[in-house]
Amino acid sequence: MSARQMLPVASTAEVRRYARGLMRRHPREWSAALTLHGVAAVAGLAMPWLIGRLVQAIQDGTTTTTVDKVALAIVGFVLVQSVLVRFAKLASAKLGERMLAELREDFVDRTLAIPLSTVERAGTGDLLTRTSRDVDALSHSIRFAVPEILIAIVTLVFSAGALIVVGPLLALPCLLGVPVLWAGSRWYLKRAPQGYLRESAAYSDLTDGLAETVEAARTVEALGGQQLRIERTDTDISRSFAAERYTLYLRTIFFPLMEVGYLVPVVATLLIGGWYYSQGWANLFQVTAATLYVQQLIDPVDRLLSWLDELQVGQASMARLLGVSNVADDRQESRGRPNGERLEATDVRFSYVDGRDVLHGISLSMDPGERLAMVGPSGAGKSTLGRLLAGIHGPRTGSVTVGGAPLTELPLRELRQHVALVTQEHHVFLGTLRENVALARPEVSDAEIRTALEAVDAWQWAQQLPAGLDTELGSGNITLSPAQAQQLALARLVIADPHTLVLDEATSLIDPRAARHLERSLAAVLEGRTVIAIAHRLFSAHDADRVAVVEDGRITELGPHHELVAAGGAYAALWRSWHGDRQPLPSIMTSRS
Ligand code: ADP
Repeated sequence: MSARQMLPVASTAEVRRYARGLMRRHPREWSAALTLHGVAAVAGLAMPWLIGRLVQAIQDGTTTTTVDKVALAIVGFVLVQSVLVRFAKLASAKLGERMLAELREDFVDRTLAIPLSTVERAGTGDLLTRTSRDVDALSHSIRFAVPEILIAIVTLVFSAGALIVVGPLLALPCLLGVPVLWAGSRWYLKRAPQGYLRESAAYSDLTDGLAETVEAARTVEALGGQQLRIERTDTDISRSFAAERYTLYLRTIFFPLMEVGYLVPVVATLLIGGWYYSQGWANLFQVTAATLYVQQLIDPVDRLLSWLDELQVGQASMARLLGVSNVADDRQESRGRPNGERLEATDVRFSYVDGRDVLHGISLSMDPGERLAMVGPSGAGKSTLGRLLAGIHGPRTGSVTVGGAPLTELPLRELRQHVALVTQEHHVFLGTLRENVALARPEVSDAEIRTALEAVDAWQWAQQLPAGLDTELGSGNITLSPAQAQQLALARLVIADPHTLVLDEATSLIDPRAARHLERSLAAVLEGRTVIAIAHRLFSAHDADRVAVVEDGRITELGPHHELVAAGGAYAALWRSWHGDRQPLPSIMTSRS
């Protein structure tokens, strides 16, 4: 298995409970669909009955006009049945779609509620497989299973009822098929859920591995790791192949067994019915009609059983989708409210992997309004510390607090009013410009949105969009330039209005061509806030109030730029090597008023 932790999978009981809840939400639609299917099934019962009567009549002696009339009646019933089936299918298909839509919405809610730290740990591959492959599998199940199962159950009940009415004795032979069907289904159901779960898990691993290989292609190439990656992919593929082969094996046993189970009752009814007839226990009408009813039973039973297979796949997918909401929340909301704006880390240790700390006891106290630049070699733990200071991860030991309240105990919405992490990632979401800006506080007024856009120098172009704030952005609509997307991200921050910002790689956030412009926008956002800037280039450090040098998970030097330079430590050495041959470029930290 991969070292990654998979997201949890829900238990069978949870899946059943959820499915029942989903069905109960629409009692009226369910009864409407059931009634329509019922009426259609009753119409379908006429044909065997009439044919039975016909056979009986021919034996007793009849006229051709009677035969014609009966034939005409059969045609009539078949037509009526077809029309009814059409509407019944429509009703149940609508119901299926509706349940599916609700299911998707539920899933989106659940996904969005997953703590970021869990997504990072589980890898996005698992989540992606669940949102794509499992949702597809489940849609297929629901879209087709709901109508089909409804039809099957209703037809089954009515045909069995008709069979008993025609002659209870004649219903007995078809019981011979039951043991075969029962044993076959049991054997299959006992093995299938695990089989399908393994199949999905193997697929997630494969997706994860491929995504990793593609994302890290250059690194892999540079380090000559191709062979390793190829081997990993080969292993994943063969595991996935083995998992698929296993479920295929299950089906190759299950389906033929079922086939036998269907044929036995028809043959038995005909043979035993013939014997009844010869004994005078049944007449020709009864034997004919019963055989036809038994034949009619095959179809719904077959549908039900093959849907069992499909439902297995669906159930496995549903378990994986529901499992997403079983992710333990990493936030424990408490009553303690922050008192003040001071961000403070005390003896913080943190590990991504158990037993391997990447932060070794860091303490840092930020004065409100202070600007801190964090520098240090790559891999030292700057981004990790940044995330802890922004409340994305909780520390393993120690505490990170704002105004005395631990960050991970604040509700997310409240947390974001205190601290926000600004990274290079800036998404333009599908939706209007207004929705994009107002993400943090959807209730803000247009005037506030305008002020935010003005603050980041974006009002100019925003105004010129075809529908102003109502312009639809995102794929397929208006595409913003990277610089505009960055301004949008900044405007979002202005709306969220946290008093503290953690900027990770904020300087490379700036596209050189739009640099000046964006610097001004960024400076406007930083205005009046506490800022922790993870400076990947030293030149943004010397204007900060304090500089923190992070090395190997510890803060090794902390103080104003000039003091650190005077002290002649690691920072001074770094500074000299940078300062020696180049002029500091205008930095985001200098534009402070
Ligand atoms: P910096 O920002 O200073 O370059 P990071 O905080 O990104 O450093 O990384 C600190 C250490 O934590 C590194 O050894 C890195 O490999 C490790 N690390 C970072 N992110 C993860 C992660 N998601 N899972 C496991 N280890 C990680």
